[in-house]
Amino acid sequence: MVGRYNIEEISDRARASFIGMAIGDALGATLEFMTVPEIAQKYGIFRDIVGGGWLRLKPGQVTDDTEMALCVARAILQHQRWSTEAVADNFAAWLKGRPTDCGDTCRKGIRRYMLHGSLEAPPNEWDAGNGAAMRILPAALFSFPDKELLKKYTLEQAHITHNNPVSDAACLALGAMLHQALRGDSKAQMRRTADALATNFPTFKFDPYRGLATGYVVDTVQTVFHWFFKARSFEECLVGTVNQGGDADTTGAICGMLAGAYYGMDAVPKRWIKKMDVKVITEIEHVVERLISASPAGRGM
Ligand code: MN
Ligand code: MN
Repeated sequence: MVGRYNIEEISDRARASFIGMAIGDALGATLEFMTVPEIAQKYGIFRDIVGGGWLRLKPGQVTDDTEMALCVARAILQHQRWSTEAVADNFAAWLKGRPTDCGDTCRKGIRRYMLHGSLEAPPNEWDAGNGAAMRILPAALFSFPDKELLKKYTLEQAHITHNNPVSDAACLALGAMLHQALRGDSKAQMRRTADALATNFPTFKFDPYRGLATGYVVDTVQTVFHWFFKARSFEECLVGTVNQGGDADTTGAICGMLAGAYYGMDAVPKRWIKKMDVKVITEIEHVVERLISASPAGRGM
């Protein structure tokens, strides 16, 4: 124990969260842009990491979701502090490396930074895609358990590409729920945060679930909340989420980070971990440990 927190337990949850995100990305990527009937016809219920999809991935290969989250993590660890500029530099280096895929709003925001050096996209009512929400995890880990730092880091990394109140609300609610899961809160407690989001922004209401799983952050969050609160295991959360199709790699990544933090490493199926890209898992193990030890909780605060 350091301070008020059991750092071993938090590290386990943090690890499961980051690995869970990568697994959700790799699992869902096969189904990206497919409809529910198309998935059912081709796979029945899809539950294994097999690669393919429109990006023709190798089994266990991740996409922009995990890669951009790793950019945020690298930026923090290179400087041992939060630097929005370092995050933007890592995004720029990633984009120059010709990634497998990159969303339009992300690409536009990174290009703006490369051309003009501005760290904040102009406010835009249309930039409510899920591209900022999918990469919040390193901000949540490095700020744990400080709510003000969580808010600052989450929004600063988001605004590099997405400056939109609906995206912001989603990012903040998901960040708060990650902190709750890391400290061992129950689903009932986490549900209050999800319900508060839907009270402040009724568009996020997810019960009854409408079944839309597009890249619009509202549809993404509804899908993640529906399956996270309905399912009873890490595996069920992810299988339910990705079988909704649509932006399945990103709904998978976000559900994977929440469910990983909630259920911990023991609940993450070994058959999925074994399929993952070893380089990605190795880097995740490396960064998670360091993000948690550099966080306020890791420093005994
Ligand atoms: Mn992706
Ligand atoms: Mn996606």
